[in-house]
Amino acid sequence: MCASLGAIRQKPAERPDAILRRITNCELRIADRRPSPDTLPFVKAPLVYTHEACLLHDAGHGHPERPARLEAAVRGARRWGGAIDLRNAPRATEDDLALVHDPAYIDAIAQICADGGGSLDQDTSVVEDSWEAALRAAGAGIAAAAAIQEGDSRIAFLAVRPPGHHAHTARALGFCLFNNIAVLAERLTRQGARVAIVDWDVHHGDGTQDTFNNRGDVLYVSLHEFPFYPGSGWVDEVGIGEGTGHTVNIALPPGTRGDAFDAAFTRIVVPVLSEFAPDWILVSAGYDAHRSDPLADLELEADDYGRMSGHLSRFDLPVVVFLEGGYHLEAIEASVAATLAGLAGAMPEASVGSPERAHQMVDLAAEVAAAHWSGVRALG
Ligand SMILES: [Zn+2]
Repeated sequence: MCASLGAIRQKPAERPDAILRRITNCELRIADRRPSPDTLPFVKAPLVYTHEACLLHDAGHGHPERPARLEAAVRGARRWGGAIDLRNAPRATEDDLALVHDPAYIDAIAQICADGGGSLDQDTSVVEDSWEAALRAAGAGIAAAAAIQEGDSRIAFLAVRPPGHHAHTARALGFCLFNNIAVLAERLTRQGARVAIVDWDVHHGDGTQDTFNNRGDVLYVSLHEFPFYPGSGWVDEVGIGEGTGHTVNIALPPGTRGDAFDAAFTRIVVPVLSEFAPDWILVSAGYDAHRSDPLADLELEADDYGRMSGHLSRFDLPVVVFLEGGYHLEAIEASVAATLAGLAGAMPEASVGSPERAHQMVDLAAEVAAAHWSGVRALG
């Protein structure tokens, strides 16, 4: 068995191979499975960022957003079928967080943590260690993008917590403190990049949508259960001002399976991304749309995540995948493995049997998107 994630220690100067060797005795088996450059579209192992501090954030006794999720995600990354380049996530600075969040809000979270923690909303609370976890969770994305820009890989998966996509500029919500994916998206746009965010967490990413609602340089596409927490994400939320059309919501009913997700990708997500022409694809990868998840009602299988990421791999762009939700450990593990395999070019079959209502909702979302995107119109 591999050693626990808790054995990771922060030694930035150390070669990642050595870090991998110390936290796991799986190294030889991983090396044996190293993918052939002839069979995969990228030859450099995907980067996987995590940090033991992310295990120490405690959302409360019995809370579904628990440290074991992170270990399941790392297990999944290890078993995707090829090598990984496992790295420790550095801290984001408070200036990084301020790219998206109000300084007074950042100070307030820091103070609550320093005082021993407390409740931030009905289902979001922190302990003293949550501050360090939150900095590492946001820092992972920044480090991953920098490493990709250095040519270390084209793909990164971030096994971090707390998650981020419900966090607003000045409000913690839904287990989220800081919006990790928004921080990176904002940072990249300030470098002149166009950024597409694809959010397949079962919950609508209200914090991310609000952050970029009026922006034409960030595309936000979400597939989520509706009506459902947090209540936003209906198809008529398309952005405002310069951002009009740059928010795409695909609202799906209980029971939706992979075939409807695949139709949404083929008819909406892929053509909109093609037309938007991003420099980066960032993914809010919750795994709570999996059929085993205890908190939601969609019916995806692990391979459905592989098919979605397979669609994204076709763009041949840098992809940074952020762990968001997902509360069934085996489902997380299998789905993370499938995600990385998809990004490496695998294209498994979608599960079938979505209710008719799911296909009708894809039709409706396509109709709305067609008003803003000629590529969607062209597909009818
Ligand atoms: Zn979620």
